[in-house]
Amino acid sequence: MSEEKSLNFIEEIIEEGIASGKYKTIVTRFPPEPNGYLHMGHATSICLNFGLTKKYPGYTNLRFDDTNPITEDTEYVESIKEDIKWLGFEWKNELYASDYFDELYNYAVQLINKGLAYVDDLTSEEIATYKGTPTQPGKDSPYRNRTVAENLSLFEKMKAGEFEDGSKTLRAKIDMAHTNMLMRDPLIYRIKHAHHHRTGNKWCIYPMYDFAHGQSDSIEHITHSICTLEFIPHRELYDWFIEKLEIYPSHQYEFARRNLSYTVMSKRKLLQLVNEKHVNGWDDPRMPTISGMRRRGFTASSIRKFCDTIGIAKRDNVTDFSLLEFCLREDLNNTALRAMAVLDPIKLVITNYPENATEELLSENGPDEMQGKRTVPFSKELWIEREDFLEVPIKKWFRLAPGASVRLKSAYIVTCTGFDKDAHGNITTIYCTYHPDSKSGGDHSGLTVKGTIHWVSVAHAATAEVRLYDRLFKVENPSNEEGDFKDYINPGSLQIIKAYIEPSLLSASIDKRYQFLRKGYFCVDKESTADKLVFNRTVTLKDTWGGNAKK
Ligand code: ATP
Ligand code: MG
Repeated sequence: MSEEKSLNFIEEIIEEGIASGKYKTIVTRFPPEPNGYLHMGHATSICLNFGLTKKYPGYTNLRFDDTNPITEDTEYVESIKEDIKWLGFEWKNELYASDYFDELYNYAVQLINKGLAYVDDLTSEEIATYKGTPTQPGKDSPYRNRTVAENLSLFEKMKAGEFEDGSKTLRAKIDMAHTNMLMRDPLIYRIKHAHHHRTGNKWCIYPMYDFAHGQSDSIEHITHSICTLEFIPHRELYDWFIEKLEIYPSHQYEFARRNLSYTVMSKRKLLQLVNEKHVNGWDDPRMPTISGMRRRGFTASSIRKFCDTIGIAKRDNVTDFSLLEFCLREDLNNTALRAMAVLDPIKLVITNYPENATEELLSENGPDEMQGKRTVPFSKELWIEREDFLEVPIKKWFRLAPGASVRLKSAYIVTCTGFDKDAHGNITTIYCTYHPDSKSGGDHSGLTVKGTIHWVSVAHAATAEVRLYDRLFKVENPSNEEGDFKDYINPGSLQIIKAYIEPSLLSASIDKRYQFLRKGYFCVDKESTADKLVFNRTVTLKDTWGGNAKK
């Protein structure tokens, strides 16, 4: 990064800490729960955590927060690793909170020994009613004053599987009248006779998030444990456990979740979209998942740039999706290979061009001369876009119309001499004459035209399925609307069309990006085969989002 940028608040804290000698190396972690695929919110957290230890001496751990056996799956573990690598980051250690189950159990025993934890027999409903409200203190559980010996023995039996799910819990003994509800004797362990994706059937008691997270940070000597704002009330408990257990003092810092307009960003909601088949899987190109964006054709560098540009905030907000697309266009404009494809074809016949002749015309592959040129076959009959012809032109119309002239990209200037219509009044064929001395690169015609349109030779064109995507939701913030967020799904978010493409695109590769001239940026979809090419439109050339969109 060469641009001068002001520090974000976490960088400020880090620089102060380094200056005062508090730490020499920075250790952060990215702690996903393997219960879904990563989304753009996670990308923000990844860029932040890994970005900090790229900038400052130190490293970042990848820690799977897998303390909930029910929802977790190794499929998710693999996808998470793939997504982080694709984004361009490397973790120092791959760790699992479940690797610490023995240590966490010992920590719980320590708390019991210190008289700071007890086994409770209240049901979850009773616990909830005993808890009080933010304005009313809670009530002590009748089991709160069990002796250390009794608690040790009961906790041991919980571990040994002697009790049913939900019949007992281990709770921290703090203060049932605390102003912070999370400090009112929070649960530390619950009984769950469930198979765990890594520890199998070894455990039937599992630590709660609050008891696992901070301690895992501490075990790994994480200096800056960064999470989102909803964890602010948890920080007091985070610090309480560290203090009482006398372990390495990691510190928690909070920033605002990344929300993007016209989509939802919660694994739980994204899972519903997948399970109820509103989309075709986690990597559906309309999904705000990293895998969906990758398949759609987003580049890792544009996502990193986006996260970098926006930075992080301390207040919740919604970021405009078009900002992400802006970063993408900037990237693709420099790198995407140029090609011609006609998405809504109409035939153009050049009446004075020789029958059966073909010319191989040179056309540049990109804005940079280094990208070189390719040849595109040209002949008497071409496909052009239906929208590039108007029978009755409007003001400032620089494309085709009866009597009007236009340049065919990398080819000749043509003048429209007539057209055919079918019985329904639809235009079927356009007739033009071409000016043989107007060839691009050696134009001696003296003609000037204001418009240039793209085309594909009918005899040489290949066909492809093209998938055009629109925003997945009709409203800016579907999670904030009344009723179910799925009521706001945009029914027209996927349009599948058949397009004519120039033959060079037959060898298009999945890891390259293409600009179909005047139509947008496209990439090969993973479902594409030699027999049936499939392209995704990644993004249009201009912004078509937002209220004052220019279509
Ligand atoms: P979700 O609600 O989508 O399940 P989560 O926070 O429960 O999200 P985790 O797997 O627990 O998902 O998150 C891993 C890390 O990513 C956490 O540090 C979390 O704070 C961060 N993270 C998750 N969502 C966002 C978001 N929208 N913006 C910024 N960071 C996020
Ligand atoms: Mg979570």
